[in-house]
Amino acid sequence: MRQYPIEKYRDIGIIAHIDAGKTTVTERILFYAGISHKIGEVHDGRAIMDWMEQERERGITITAAATTCFWKPTDVGTQNKRETERETDAKKDEYQINIIDTPGHIDFTAEVQRSLRVLDGAVVVFDGVAGVEPQSETVWHQADKFKVPRICFINKLDRIGASFEKSLESIYQKLTPNVVALQIPIGQEEKFEGAIDLLEMKALKFEGDFGQIVSKVALFDEKGEPRPEGREDVPADLLSKAQEWREKLIEKIVAEDEQLLEKYLAKKEIPIENLRQVLRKAVITYKLIPVFCGSALKNKGIQPLLDGICYYLPNPIDLPSVKGIDPQTGQENERKPDDNEPFSALAFKVASDPYVGTLTFFRVYSGSLERGSYLLNSTTREKERIGRILRMHAAEREEVKEIFTGDIAATIGLKNTSTGHTLCDENHPIAFEKITFPEPVISIRIEPKTKADQEKMSLALRKLTEEDPTFRVKGDLETGETIISGMGELHLEIITDRMRREFKVEGNVGKPQVAYKETIKETAEAEGKYIRQSGGRGQYGHVFLRVEPKERGQVFEFIDEIKGGIIPREFISAVEKGVKEAMEKGVLAGYPLVDMEVVLYDGSFHEVDSSEIAFKIAGSAALQAAVKRAKPVLLEPIMKLEVVVPSEFFGDTIGDLAARRGKIEETKDRINLKVINAKVPLAEMFGYATALRSLTEGRGNFTMEFDHYAEVPQNIAQVIIEGRKK
Ligand code: GDP
Repeated sequence: MRQYPIEKYRDIGIIAHIDAGKTTVTERILFYAGISHKIGEVHDGRAIMDWMEQERERGITITAAATTCFWKPTDVGTQNKRETERETDAKKDEYQINIIDTPGHIDFTAEVQRSLRVLDGAVVVFDGVAGVEPQSETVWHQADKFKVPRICFINKLDRIGASFEKSLESIYQKLTPNVVALQIPIGQEEKFEGAIDLLEMKALKFEGDFGQIVSKVALFDEKGEPRPEGREDVPADLLSKAQEWREKLIEKIVAEDEQLLEKYLAKKEIPIENLRQVLRKAVITYKLIPVFCGSALKNKGIQPLLDGICYYLPNPIDLPSVKGIDPQTGQENERKPDDNEPFSALAFKVASDPYVGTLTFFRVYSGSLERGSYLLNSTTREKERIGRILRMHAAEREEVKEIFTGDIAATIGLKNTSTGHTLCDENHPIAFEKITFPEPVISIRIEPKTKADQEKMSLALRKLTEEDPTFRVKGDLETGETIISGMGELHLEIITDRMRREFKVEGNVGKPQVAYKETIKETAEAEGKYIRQSGGRGQYGHVFLRVEPKERGQVFEFIDEIKGGIIPREFISAVEKGVKEAMEKGVLAGYPLVDMEVVLYDGSFHEVDSSEIAFKIAGSAALQAAVKRAKPVLLEPIMKLEVVVPSEFFGDTIGDLAARRGKIEETKDRINLKVINAKVPLAEMFGYATALRSLTEGRGNFTMEFDHYAEVPQNIAQVIIEGRKK
């Protein structure tokens, strides 16, 4: 049995530039949602202290991939009810909010993408002093790409230099003209006290030791005259400002609905409920983006934000059906968000938990699932048994018997399911679009500090690769060292830090290296022979291969054109193995060969002497010879870079980028600032953070992400190749 109707589900993420206050906002959300759910509307400090004590003992796990909490919007009318009625109502009016964790740093675009994929709506948090920062733009555009309806929260209004209006203006200028303020702050900086709700025209203040009591004071009476209490609460100039802002808000809302517009033009009263409904529709269709304000640290503004999540962000059935393909027929198919449809879900995170082992988090798109059932992983085509189903709360795991459409849950012990795989009803298979992850671009050598660390390190690395599809581990065949690769310097730093803290392994790491690749520019052929016939049983492997370039990013293909059994089948797969091994090792400088295909078109074999090993060696040899003739070149990762600097540093910054082989693609003006978009080879970008800081007296900012692989210029390639030979 479903406990909460699907209309009351909210699968959301909180996204922000690093440091904007995402963690604090999330903590406060879980706190207020926790106290209201656990102990009803208690306004008593003691009860809250007790609750916090319990939570603390169990340890708050807000770092889970998804956390569930419950919230009843403050405005759902229970004022005039008796205590017992309120209690029953409390559950009935509650919403189930599933918060999906999203990372703050751009090095983890893969993490951002996979979380954006499974959430239905988002709260975007901004720093009320800095407004829109470069990284907020990046996450914003990603949210656009995944069509995520959102609401904004301008945080930190208590800080010196905070400005609601400037921050709002920067969202308007840099991100979208569709923003609309639903609140304005009462006071700012050290005088920040609360907010005016522009729909209800009430002053909101947050009282009690933890801001847990929301006091609402109506500013105007029914006739539209300022009420005396309201006057006490907000200064007169703010009152008229609130009226102006309300006018803007109402105009934007009524423009979205003909009936409301008519009423508005006829100067008729429009119930707040209707305004909310229309605004909700506009949010879901990306036409309007409401803005809230507050200070998470000072416990102000969080409860109205929670209300806003319930009022305006979509529930699972507000959104279109999810598309996929039938893995058997390859035909397009879809699943409606409905408990009665066949079960389907997307695994979006694999995490290793010190207590329970491997946790696989998934989001249910259709149907329902009882624990103990079998599912098909339509990506790997293997069956998986779902033994236990867990839901994560702020401080505890809850075992559930059954889950439904829209739920986010975790299961334990899946062996063959990774991030991005579809889990579905085996009789009604569907495969959702896979989440594609970029290839790692940077690698470092890592070695255990002591012999004892050796085993622990390989275990830790294995666990970490299971969790993170953009993190790879490889052994260097020649030196026996371990090489780890990822999406950026910070990404690998965090990985080695986690190794230390969670797995207690100390490792020595080398300097970060660019993950170069090799490819060919022409088609070429070559013969490979491995023939030893000196008494007794000999060796005989003999092949002809053709190598052909493919477009960037295409997957490798091995094509078998052998006819009439001139090479028996069992030896052909040995040739393929040899070819793949040789490609891993590369030809020019030991980097893996990519973007090419290999055709096996001729060869011969010997009845007695031929063996798999002989063909493997012949395949390897032929591949190396063919690649050498096919104009091999080195490829390097090129990064997309955005630098924002005060205008006076523009010249120096551009000059520095040119020296780093950067290609400037566009420069834009922003008030007193220059924005530079460029493409730069990763090899030139080590230590850029420090360099930019000293170039701009600490005032420049940048974001960087992988863009594509490109050929390394000849003279530079020469240096790299020479270096690898030493
Ligand atoms: P995240 O990196 O986005 O998760 O940000 P955090 O929640 O960790 O916050 C970054 C810093 O800003 C921390 O030192 C917080 O204490 C502080 N902070 C968060 N919210 C507020 C706020 O509303 N006002 C002030 N003054 N500081 C805040």
